[in-house]
Amino acid sequence: MTFHKGKKLTGALFVSGIISLVLALISGEGGAAANTLSVLGLVLFVSGLLACIAFCRCPACNRAIIRKLFVLKDCPYCKRDLSTGLKTKKKK
Ligand SMILES: [Zn+2]
Repeated sequence: MTFHKGKKLTGALFVSGIISLVLALISGEGGAAANTLSVLGLVLFVSGLLACIAFCRCPACNRAIIRKLFVLKDCPYCKRDLSTGLKTKKKK
């Protein structure tokens, strides 16, 4: 699993989890559909978190990147490019 695949998987799981939770809210309380959707939403959300911890790692130093996952292009720990693993040029 590459960093970018992990990021896509995490994003997909989070988005589908949120959609399920929103649908559960819309469909109202107490119904069987709402209960199923809210459980599904939570499961998807937790899987997203696990996928993030398991797969969203820097290819160079193998540290998990959780904060700012969708914004960062360089590893915050070793400053290497997350897609290539090469050192990024210093910006001045
Ligand atoms: Zn790194």
